[in-house]
Amino acid sequence: MTESGFSHVSERDAAPTFRASWGASSAAGSVRTLNEDAYLARFPVFVVADGMGGHEAGELASAEAVAALGRLAGRTDVTARTVQECLEEAQDRVRAIPTSPGRDAGTTVSGVVAVNESGVPYWLVVNVGDSRTYRLADGVLEQVSVDHSEVQEMVDAGMLTVAEAARHPRRHVVTQALGAGDGFDPDFWLLPVEENDRMLLCTDGLTGELGDDAIAAILLAQPAPKAAADLLVEAALVAGGRDNVTVVVVDAHDVARTADEESTSPRGGRSQDNYPDVDDEDTVPRARHREQGEH
Ligand code: MG
Repeated sequence: MTESGFSHVSERDAAPTFRASWGASSAAGSVRTLNEDAYLARFPVFVVADGMGGHEAGELASAEAVAALGRLAGRTDVTARTVQECLEEAQDRVRAIPTSPGRDAGTTVSGVVAVNESGVPYWLVVNVGDSRTYRLADGVLEQVSVDHSEVQEMVDAGMLTVAEAARHPRRHVVTQALGAGDGFDPDFWLLPVEENDRMLLCTDGLTGELGDDAIAAILLAQPAPKAAADLLVEAALVAGGRDNVTVVVVDAHDVARTADEESTSPRGGRSQDNYPDVDDEDTVPRARHREQGEH
């Protein structure tokens, strides 16, 4: 499942313009028969979703999230509030999926929506769960989203290093997912769109197999977004492919005006080691993890 495209944004009233080009790639991996990941790459909305819930529920959950956000495709008036409303609709749609007792359907969502704020183009970064949004700028790859995961909480509390978190047995336990648990509180960040920005959206099937340095090397070596997405998925499969892996790469060119506005609280860049000793790559919501008595 792969896709690519491009778009030239041209707002009314001489608003800023930029040209986006993108490519996406997704694979079930070497172990799983179903691909419970999904993605949407239709300007101005680019997201990945990693479904969970067993049987076909995870596949349906990620598809419902993508379908709800798909209402933003082609629009030029999108705001954070619009995205929030779509996420709430996605939540309702995921909760309506019939599931086995104790196995709620859920899905992560991570990605960017290109928006204009006061005449300036921004990436509106949105995240729920442990899929990730990165930005490659000036040769440096930086994770923008912050994982909603137990190990991220332990990193924040100073109990684990990032490298330890990557190998921790509870690394797949998410603290937020659309549809699962009591609710969700998505993170939003606004980043000014800069010339030659490259945004990377990925499910944990990529970051579970490749460290940030390996990901950055591929993004820097391959200028075409579609080829970069394909190569990242291929590298994750070569590294083991123990989970579904989905990648969307979005490039920004011909940015008519760059912004001096401060961006809102992006997390600093983090580096990770490779961590190849993984057997079970199931992402699970925290409550269910506890019910199953796993450690
Ligand atoms: Mg996954």
